Amino acid sequence: MTAATATDDATREAAAFRAEARAWIRAHAPSAGPGARGTGFSASSDDQGAAARDARAWVRLRYESGWAGLSWPIEHGGRGLPIAFERIYAEEQTAVGISNALLQVGLGMVGPTIIKHGTPEQHDRYLTPMLRGDEGWCQLFSEPGAGSDLAAVACHAVRDGDDWVVDGQKVWTSGAAHSDWGILLARTAPDQPKHRGITCFLVDMTSPGVDVRPLRQMTGGAHFSEVFLTGVRVPAANVLGDVDGGWAVALTTLGFERNVIGGTNLGPDAEDVLTLAKRYGRTDDATFRDALARAYSGERILGFLGQRARAAATRGLLRGYEGSLAKLAHAQHIREASSLALRVLGADALLGGADAADDGVWQQYFLGGPSYRIAGGTDEIQRNLIAERGLGLPAEPRNDRTLPFRDLPRN
Ligand SMILES: Cc1cc2nc3c(=O)[nH]c(=O)nc-3n(C[C@H](O)[C@H](O)[C@H](O)COP(=O)(O)OP(=O)(O)OC[C@H]3O[C@@H](n4cnc5c(N)ncnc54)[C@H](O)[C@@H]3O)c2cc1C
Repeated sequence: MTAATATDDATREAAAFRAEARAWIRAHAPSAGPGARGTGFSASSDDQGAAARDARAWVRLRYESGWAGLSWPIEHGGRGLPIAFERIYAEEQTAVGISNALLQVGLGMVGPTIIKHGTPEQHDRYLTPMLRGDEGWCQLFSEPGAGSDLAAVACHAVRDGDDWVVDGQKVWTSGAAHSDWGILLARTAPDQPKHRGITCFLVDMTSPGVDVRPLRQMTGGAHFSEVFLTGVRVPAANVLGDVDGGWAVALTTLGFERNVIGGTNLGPDAEDVLTLAKRYGRTDDATFRDALARAYSGERILGFLGQRARAAATRGLLRGYEGSLAKLAHAQHIREASSLALRVLGADALLGGADAADDGVWQQYFLGGPSYRIAGGTDEIQRNLIAERGLGLPAEPRNDRTLPFRDLPRN
């Protein structure tokens, strides 16, 4: 995403920050290894370990140069800037094709959650290693029976002396195979209604009983895993937030997740589709021009949504559904732009990297596209959030707020 950003900054300070960030990123981008570039959900690389190493090296460089934790408090190693500056930085970094995707669960989601809900000891222990890229994190939330309805988690933890003992299964865990730590939701009070009996834990992924099994996607890569936890002992000091109060912690993480996915705009660029179309001599085709105009408009809308969220954040007026809007638009844009590129490529699309200039990237976006509609909350769930929080429509009727979790029918 490039076109809509440079002139959008609401304040002179933001514009100056953008110029400074751009200069630093462009001066150092050549040193970013290939794994730091463009590894989103569509990553096909089998060597995610190498990609994770490159991503960590880039994050460390940011930390050492004062470009890490931009919105984190200064006492936690950050720069204490408004959240809008994170978005500006992300746009500039994305423009040169560098992604923090492999470490973004920690940097964009777990870190801010620990800052909000963690104890001083947890701040000291986890934040700096995360910012420095020394420790990567994954999100152990979803389960086979708990995705959109996340509060239905059945993985459970029982207190035993100074530890909790965790048993259960997680699924879709992005980056689990190369993560050092996981943020986990587990049921600790099955007699309570489902939102009230969950606790959030910080789990060392090398603990005995943690079994990570990568899942292969249709892109060919194995971006996420299923994770089995059998008798995993987690020290009581690793509870994040209150025991049985994990739902509030989860909501914090999910809010940051929507902003991360919608805010970075990592993905195909309409400009690149146009370049491709020129090479294939498709720019005179009226239906193609129409579709290209749609993709370009989608990209501009994404830019405007980002601009609106930045302006609201600068004024402290974020209302919580802006991330949903951006995430919806982002998922749609990736689908439209990548299917358009495949139309241009025609039979060459089947040959992957046959065309040197294409290098299979459009196939990756196309095949990875559907996952953007699901990850971080499906399109339908984002629409529910926008309807309820943005438009003030009544919430769906539900009967699961008062019954104890153990009495709820489950599949
Ligand atoms: C690439 C990728 C990466 C992911 N990474 C992680 C990760 O790192 N950690 C993690 O914990 N999870 C992760 N997820 C899981 C993701 O959060 C869930 O897949 C998602 O929340 C949907 O849950 P589900 O798959 O169980 O689908 P379900 O919840 O079973 O939904 C099935 C269908 O029903 C619809 N639906 C469900 N409820 C409603 C409703 N109330 N109103 C309208 N429609 C509804 C959904 O929109 C969907 O179309 C990832 C997913 C993907 C695709």
